[in-house]
Amino acid sequence: MEKVTELDTFRVMSERVGRFSPQGKTFLIPEMNRIGAHLLAGVFRGFGINSKVMETYEGLDLGKEFTSGKECFPCVVTLGDILLFMKKERERLGDRFDPENYMYFMPESDGPCRFGMYNKYHRIVLDSIPGLDKVKIASLSSEDAYSLDGLIPEEKIRDFRKTAYLSIVVGDIIDRLLWRIRPYEREEGMADKFIDEAMKHMTESFSKHSSGKDLSGILKDLVEIAREGKEIIDPHIPKKPLIGVVGEIYVRSHLKSNQDTIRTLEKYGGEAINASVAEWINYTTYEQVRLAKIAFRLNLKRFRLKEVKEALFQYLKYNLTLFYQYIQQRKVYRTVRNYIDIEEDHKIGHLEKALTKNNIFSFEVGTEACLSISAALEHAHRGYNGIVNIFPFTCMPSNITSSIAKPLMAKLHVPYIDVSYDGSFQPGGEAALRTFMYQAYQHYQTQGRPK
Ligand code: SF4
Repeated sequence: MEKVTELDTFRVMSERVGRFSPQGKTFLIPEMNRIGAHLLAGVFRGFGINSKVMETYEGLDLGKEFTSGKECFPCVVTLGDILLFMKKERERLGDRFDPENYMYFMPESDGPCRFGMYNKYHRIVLDSIPGLDKVKIASLSSEDAYSLDGLIPEEKIRDFRKTAYLSIVVGDIIDRLLWRIRPYEREEGMADKFIDEAMKHMTESFSKHSSGKDLSGILKDLVEIAREGKEIIDPHIPKKPLIGVVGEIYVRSHLKSNQDTIRTLEKYGGEAINASVAEWINYTTYEQVRLAKIAFRLNLKRFRLKEVKEALFQYLKYNLTLFYQYIQQRKVYRTVRNYIDIEEDHKIGHLEKALTKNNIFSFEVGTEACLSISAALEHAHRGYNGIVNIFPFTCMPSNITSSIAKPLMAKLHVPYIDVSYDGSFQPGGEAALRTFMYQAYQHYQTQGRPK
């Protein structure tokens, strides 16, 4: 048997994990937030790429079989998703199954935590299963604000990026619509049924309009959904305590991983709003602007003109991208807010200022902790009635969040709870959320809701 050297392992990582063209393949998207994943698949289809959102969580046992228990929970869930999908395809197609026909999408992020390692670990596991070494892993990185070079043909990158970003914002808005209407629905189950249909409709809309320059058809469809969604609200139901949800992006967005925490909060009398997915995309772009600014200053001090020029170029490039994202996001939220009062999203610069002003954490440390801590603080100042921090058990940035946000919220007299998940069911989990909602209700009775 041929000996596998370290060099071979590195070669595999660069040859079979990276930015590859998905043309001619089935592009497999893991589900994080349900609606956003389906809309993104619609965008890919609009650009002629056959994409599919994989069934999720059903392969958890497989994910666990190929991990040691020390990995981050999202890594285990997504590994289970791809392994189960491949297993079912092999069974379905028999001799016609060809792993080369698939490409698995697993982006990454740089920085101190382990999200950058998921796709490498998944590569090692896929390589250990006969035939699955042929399944390439397409990856994008936060290191360059999720640049699409190599994944999408150059002439289409700009349009694709615009539409993909729009799909993320629209996904967030449909989620917010659900959380706005479900606690006040006229009949039980109406909101869920309506949002399921809305998701299908918007996925079709993205498939249909994505490749064209004019995206107004997507907005029109969204407005129609907002208009109809509002009708589900029973105006006789009094307003409920408002809860802000922060935490690790995958588990707080993935319903099965977080055992549908928001539904439990609603069951005990709350209305909850989760942090958005666009927040993370805006943050990665903001981070590039911040780093380019630092590089510019440092190189200017040392009089390194070539590096100064490069830093200035990066600064302008990412600033323009961020500016575009904010304009686009605000436009879509404002359009929908003409019909229903969903919460707008915050700007990342605003969050950084809140941290600096209160001197409690720094963007220099990075990770989602800087978003979660500052968002919790913002919610508290705005008068939210409680904060829930949802995260995978053992998640490093979320434990940092907890260590800072918990005492901070106690000082501000805002109810706060940490809820961590690892796939097991905690017998006292629901009771803890119920007690938290009782505290949130008391806060609501004395302080009211945010204006
Ligand atoms: S944020 Fe938490 S769960 Fe995600 S990779 Fe980092 S440590 Fe793991």
